[in-house]
Amino acid sequence: MYTTRFAPTPSGPLHFGSLSTLLGAWLRARSQGGRILLRIEDLDTPRCPGGMARRVLSDIDAFGFDFDGEPLFQSSRIPFYASKIRKLEKDGLAFSCTCTRQSLKHSPCRCFERMSPLPPGTPCSIRFKPREEISGIFKDELLGAVDTGDTYGYLTLRRSDGIISYNLACVADDIATGVTEVVRGQDLMYVTPRQEALARALGHEGFSYLHLPLALESPGLKLSKQNHAKAVTDAMAPQQALLLALAFLGQDSSWARPSMECRDILIGAASRFDPSRLPHRSAAAPAGVF
Ligand code: GLU
Repeated sequence: MYTTRFAPTPSGPLHFGSLSTLLGAWLRARSQGGRILLRIEDLDTPRCPGGMARRVLSDIDAFGFDFDGEPLFQSSRIPFYASKIRKLEKDGLAFSCTCTRQSLKHSPCRCFERMSPLPPGTPCSIRFKPREEISGIFKDELLGAVDTGDTYGYLTLRRSDGIISYNLACVADDIATGVTEVVRGQDLMYVTPRQEALARALGHEGFSYLHLPLALESPGLKLSKQNHAKAVTDAMAPQQALLLALAFLGQDSSWARPSMECRDILIGAASRFDPSRLPHRSAAAPAGVF
């Protein structure tokens, strides 16, 4: 059965860009009688202020979205991710890495060539070395063949501060929860070929992908929590935001009224959802949302 997910990092409240991605994923699933799961990617605790996950959940609720099953909190699944790292180590696909961001600017990582184990207590991350070369190309359901130009294969699995990486947790959870299609923003396209390689290494045949356009604050700058994008629920009524997000996704919203219940807007939009109208390119966010 078609299954996708919405997977926010609770580093800030839901902004218009995340709302558009959520709406796109929800419509894609519900318009074909499929499932949509909610996953809170709260592993990067230094980036996620206390209480923000609750805020994001209540923001999502304000728009009337429903999900299949309870939200999954990644922070409660650390032993599961650790077991996946051990499996990759056992298969010879993970290695300890002492490179820093700074050192990687000057020379590529060769840590996988190290013959003897690091002395205990040496600060290091654990990285993934795929079996095969990565082409950097993947197939997107919206954009066709995408060439990311990104063939550097050593995804981080566990950071040197001990935090499980987004990439490992994301791929392991997409597999474990039966996701069939990953719908998310185009800001994550660059990592897709490496995530595909990681999924294969974890024994999965792969997902389909649909990367939605981003809402931009100014040319080349996406709305984001780092840029302190405004909470969409603080900016306007939820119905108004849903209508703007529908228009942003190229969908017909002429039938909908701001006086309608959010739920009725969502159901009406799902019955009219036309993926061929989704724009390919990121575009300016509408006035008033940031
Ligand atoms: N957690 C990521 C974000 O909030 C999304 C990850 C994904 O969809 O793969 O941007």
